[in-house]
Amino acid sequence: MLTQWWQKNRQRLVAHYCQCCGLAIERREKAAKLTWLLCWRCQAALQVPRCRRCGIECLTEVDLCGVCLSSPPLWRQLYCVGDYTPPLSHYVQQLKFQRQLHQADVLAQMLAAKLSPEIDVITFVPLHWQRQLWRGFNQSEWIARALAQRLGVPCQAMFKRIRATQPQLGMSRQARQKNLHNAFKLHGACHNSAIAIVDDVVTTGSTVQQLCKLLLDAGAKSVDIYCICRTPEPHSER
Ligand SMILES: [Zn+2]
Ligand SMILES: [Zn+2]
Repeated sequence: MLTQWWQKNRQRLVAHYCQCCGLAIERREKAAKLTWLLCWRCQAALQVPRCRRCGIECLTEVDLCGVCLSSPPLWRQLYCVGDYTPPLSHYVQQLKFQRQLHQADVLAQMLAAKLSPEIDVITFVPLHWQRQLWRGFNQSEWIARALAQRLGVPCQAMFKRIRATQPQLGMSRQARQKNLHNAFKLHGACHNSAIAIVDDVVTTGSTVQQLCKLLLDAGAKSVDIYCICRTPEPHSER
C-alpha cells in the first residue's frame, strides 16, 4: 500500500534538477513537459528549426531543404533531439565511452518526446562484431530498446555489419559509398512494414541511407530515422 502511494506521488514530491544547467525544475514545468530532465530554457535551446527530411538546421522549419530537394534521402523523415553539442554530446559520450548504460533511457526519453510514431517496428544501426566485443554493447541498440519500451513498439535486430568500415568523417561521397559497399546485410522480414532505424549520431547520413536502401529493396513500406544528434559534417559535403 505504501509502495503504491510512493509510486503515485514520488514524481510530485521529489525535486528535479535540470541535467544541463542544474537549476530546479518547477512543478508546473514538470506537468507541462514530457521530460523532466531539462528545464524549459534548456529544452528551448535544443529547439532549432530544421529540415524535417534530413534534420539539418535551417532558418525556418521546412519539409525539404535545398539539398533534399536536389537529392532527397531515401528515408521519410529524420527525428533528432539536437546537435552534437553539450549537453547532448556529453550524454552520448557517457553512454558510449563510459558505459553509463542508464543514459540510454535518458536519451530515449528525450527523443520520445519529439516523436509522433506511426511505425510497426524499431531497429538500430549495427556495430561490427569486433567493435561490439571491444565495447561490450551497441549504444544504438540500447537507445532503440529503451525507446521501443516507451513507445510500446517491438524492437528487432534487422541488420548485420558484415565488414568493418572506416570512420566516414572527411570522406568524399564516392569514398563513403565505396567504404560502405556491401558492409551490411539484412535479415528478418520487413515487407510492408513502417520501420524506424535508431542511430546515436547521424553526421554524413551515408550509413542510414545504406540501411534504408536494404529495407526498401526488401519491400518496407517506409523508413524513418530516429537519432539523438544530427549534426552536419564540418567543412565537407554531406
Ligand atoms: Zn536547464
Ligand atoms: Zn534537408
